[in-house]
Amino acid sequence: MQELTHYIGGAHVKGTSGRFADVYNPATGEVQAKVPLANKAEMERAVEIAAKAQVAWAAVNPQRRARVMMKFVDLLNRDMDKLAEALSREHGKTLPDAAGDVQRGLEVVEYCIGAPQMLKGDYTDSAGPGIDMYSMKQALGVTAGITPFNFPAMIPMWMFAPAIVCGNAFILKPSERDPSVPLMLAELMEEAGLPKGILQVVNGDKEAVDAILYDDTIQSVGFVGSTPIAEYIYGTGCSQGKRVQCFGGAKNHMIIMPDADMDQAADALVGAGYGAAGERCMAISVAVPVGEDTADRLIEALVPRVEALKVGPYTSGNDVDYGPVVTAAAKSNIERLVQTGIDQGAKLVVDGRDFSLQGYEDGFFVGAHLFDNVTKDMDIYKHEIFGPVLSTVRAQTYEEAIGLAMDHEYGNGTAIFTRDGDTARDFANRINIGMVGVNVPIPVPLAYHTFGGWKKSMFGDLNQHGPDAFKFYTRTKTVTSRWPSGIKEGGEFSIPVME
Ligand code: NAD
Repeated sequence: MQELTHYIGGAHVKGTSGRFADVYNPATGEVQAKVPLANKAEMERAVEIAAKAQVAWAAVNPQRRARVMMKFVDLLNRDMDKLAEALSREHGKTLPDAAGDVQRGLEVVEYCIGAPQMLKGDYTDSAGPGIDMYSMKQALGVTAGITPFNFPAMIPMWMFAPAIVCGNAFILKPSERDPSVPLMLAELMEEAGLPKGILQVVNGDKEAVDAILYDDTIQSVGFVGSTPIAEYIYGTGCSQGKRVQCFGGAKNHMIIMPDADMDQAADALVGAGYGAAGERCMAISVAVPVGEDTADRLIEALVPRVEALKVGPYTSGNDVDYGPVVTAAAKSNIERLVQTGIDQGAKLVVDGRDFSLQGYEDGFFVGAHLFDNVTKDMDIYKHEIFGPVLSTVRAQTYEEAIGLAMDHEYGNGTAIFTRDGDTARDFANRINIGMVGVNVPIPVPLAYHTFGGWKKSMFGDLNQHGPDAFKFYTRTKTVTSRWPSGIKEGGEFSIPVME
């Protein structure tokens, strides 16, 4: 059994707390490693090292810091297959999807190569008589991030790349479900030229998270995960005087108008609903066809597609559409919610409950489920299922459809499928959700835009990556300066005498 480590001060360090969590291979259900769960003392040691290293790193000019990112991009490309394999083995997602996870992180690293431009300050010449005014963006110091299991490469990179290129040190507390890729990323950053102690990985659970939240040296906390934990971290972190941004759960609606191309909409829904076994914060989990006829045509198009989905281990390569869910607990939670859907009167038109895969009976596989006639009061509509379960809520009008998405407590992503520009424009303007797709089911913004939901999907002011990240990871200081007249007034040639 492999014993994983922390990565502290530029070295793999064994856990000393005596507490460990099991890391599974979700495809087989076997425990493949144990990960140490840090205590307060271990976190304090990492913070102390980070604080010392950060001073010199902030003094390195931005161009040189950007060069580390350039080299890191090369190394990510070099090791892409290795990273994807390690990621799939612990997470369960397919290899192409795992490579996408790395790639979407890599693109933010590429964006960070523009740090010299992003970190340039403002200057006003002659703001008053002989007075100049300038602003500079300075690093915060030691920063920290707490990340979820579902994107173990992308989300850590979304946080640590901008934090580090701005001159901060960063402590990553990754998910205890799939900690290997974060450890590999820390090694690669050092191979790229990052000084020791600037990026450290401290594995753990709530105890490590609380050690971050109550540490006086750590200046900022980034979090991505479920909404209850996001609320806890936001509230606690803010009360401790930290800068905090927390991204939470989701229930993303896709509205299908009567004029939509139904084959296109159904293809989009299958990918967005069932890809990565539905374990994406931008997954579509609610389909809202407008009008009974649209709903009937949609269900007719969806059923064969959902039934044809191929579920299996990542080792089956391209023959698989999605893999297992992350843990046995996640699987039984999904099964429990599916049962509530049936009990509360939804119509299960594709029933994945009997799914079983020969040779992988102990894996955490969940068959694809499709519900029709879901209503607002049902648990499967109210809660994030985070599994391969798509709910269809039939709306009679466009207003009813947009109202559903607007009234839901989550506001991460949404999409509309239509051929009508006016409807699409109205939807994009009125909807109270952070990321909107028009005939695009998973509208994840690219690295140079920013990522973030609204309502209970986001706590804080600034989004992830793009220009917001450079604001989150720096403080602005504004200097007003006046210089008294000096040497330019000319030399003094007579011997000074007392008046
Ligand atoms: P999670 O909330 O269980 O865990 C996230 C992190 O918080 C992990 O590092 C975990 O160790 C830590 N944590 C767990 N319980 C804690 C506690 N009681 N106190 C302190 N820390 C704790 O989330 P998850 O299951 O890893 O990820 C899935 C969730 O993340 C889903 O809700 C999904 O929608 C959300 N997510 C959101 C986004 C986004 O950008 N909005 C992106 C990805 C995932």
